[in-house]
Amino acid sequence: MRASIIVHGGAWDIPSALHKAHEEGMARALKTGQKKLAETDDAHRACLAVLTVLENEPVFDAGTGSFLNAGGEVEMDAGIMKGEDLSAGAVAALKNIRNPILVAEAVRVHTQHVLLAGQGAYDFAREQGFKRVETEALLTGREKERYRILKERGKVRIKSFFEKKPSDTVGAVVMDSHGRMTAGTTTGGTPHKMAGRVGDVPVPGSGFYADNRYGAVSVTGWGEGILRAGLAMRAMRALESGAGAAEAAGEALRFLEERIKGEAGIIVLDARGRAGFDFNTPYMAVGYATVDNMEYATVLGEGTSGSK
Ligand code: ASP
Repeated sequence: MRASIIVHGGAWDIPSALHKAHEEGMARALKTGQKKLAETDDAHRACLAVLTVLENEPVFDAGTGSFLNAGGEVEMDAGIMKGEDLSAGAVAALKNIRNPILVAEAVRVHTQHVLLAGQGAYDFAREQGFKRVETEALLTGREKERYRILKERGKVRIKSFFEKKPSDTVGAVVMDSHGRMTAGTTTGGTPHKMAGRVGDVPVPGSGFYADNRYGAVSVTGWGEGILRAGLAMRAMRALESGAGAAEAAGEALRFLEERIKGEAGIIVLDARGRAGFDFNTPYMAVGYATVDNMEYATVLGEGTSGSK
């Protein structure tokens, strides 16, 4: 099997001034993933390494660079799933931690649970030795400016963000040469969400899913729609009935569009190692590499879907 990595850096109307930062951020994450795969040939470890880099890139809405909620706080969601044994770990509405995906992994490994939220997730992270960071340290000037504008505007229609406004959630799907797969997604959520709002990202079957038998998926877009569609599971079902990676992404997306009028982007690796993606937002940031070849890290415009 050809070890490979597919990543996304959000799906929305990404302005051209931000394309380069998205492309460079994804390329850095892919390079880190390639190195990890070359050293370990372990999809799970590589996926965690990729997502950690993406969380640390300030251009993305995850870890550093997360959007502020309506109360001026950063609350982050993240989830990871191992396709070998279907084990999963996730955190929701987690504050004051730099890398939520690593806490999600700790939930998977060190608890009997799948998803920890809010104060309980924070306390667990601290017990596990994660350092507290002040909200300020997770912010870029950009997020503060967005917060100020949205606060002045008062009532905000969150769904409109995916047609026009920011959504730079990140996700990754990795396969190693044994055909083992891991998928994960991490986000600061939607700008100006209510305090305590949890989206699709930490929910297996909505924001991510992995099963070595069929493939693995990570999703981005309007979380409320994705949750109601069980979008990652829709793509998994398509894979199970024999669809290829790009086809499965397309099928799931069509359901979201037709039944919920939702906007999203989906990345997929199928069990044969083929990568695919699809989106129905104006742009999507997507990158793909095999262990020894950087294929692309790019922002694609509407009407493009792809496979490799
Ligand atoms: N799905 C994320 C959420 O609703 C946002 C995104 O993908 O950008 O929290």
